[in-house]
Amino acid sequence: MTRDEYFEGLKALAREKRMYHAVRTNSFGLREVRQIYKKEGIRIDPWPLPPKIKAMYMCADGDYSVAVQRSLPDEPKLFALVHELKHHYVDQEQIANGVVTCGDYNRNELIEKGAEVFAAEFIFPEQEFAELVKSIGISVWRPEDIVRLKRRIAAKISYTFVRKRLERLGLVTRGAFVTVQFKKLEEQMFGVPYWKARMRRRAVG
Ligand SMILES: [Zn+2]
Repeated sequence: MTRDEYFEGLKALAREKRMYHAVRTNSFGLREVRQIYKKEGIRIDPWPLPPKIKAMYMCADGDYSVAVQRSLPDEPKLFALVHELKHHYVDQEQIANGVVTCGDYNRNELIEKGAEVFAAEFIFPEQEFAELVKSIGISVWRPEDIVRLKRRIAAKISYTFVRKRLERLGLVTRGAFVTVQFKKLEEQMFGVPYWKARMRRRAVG
């Protein structure tokens, strides 16, 4: 099996599991992923993790648990929890009563990359993304267009997610917008969100 075949297989599995768990893109968040964990019999452990580790999947004699970095913001936390689902569905045999620590891409490179592909498809299927992009009809993407696109997406994803998808679909040159600070740009274009403005005022005193 080639890498591409492996990744395509994982995307198909993600779509199948989405359907099984009746996932709707626009309303899939932390509460929903916790319900899936419950149904699948996976515990979420509140253990503290070293800063470099995003999450961890453990299985031993039919006991399944995941620990996730508590300091992560909601979007990367959701992504990490779905990433761990892939280890649960696919990698148990290979792990064989052990642990996968995630965030270290040198070790288990293919397993980890596969979990990223699975999570991306699960949270926001490529086809849904492609249809949205097509309906917008932009041929040369500028950073401002990416901000506008992101604001139309209800799925809980990050700017990095959007950028990587556009790269994958061949709409943006790989790495072209890596240095763009999209959140800042969004604030310049649309203003600072109310909750953030309040926090800043409080910080100033
Ligand atoms: Zn992993």
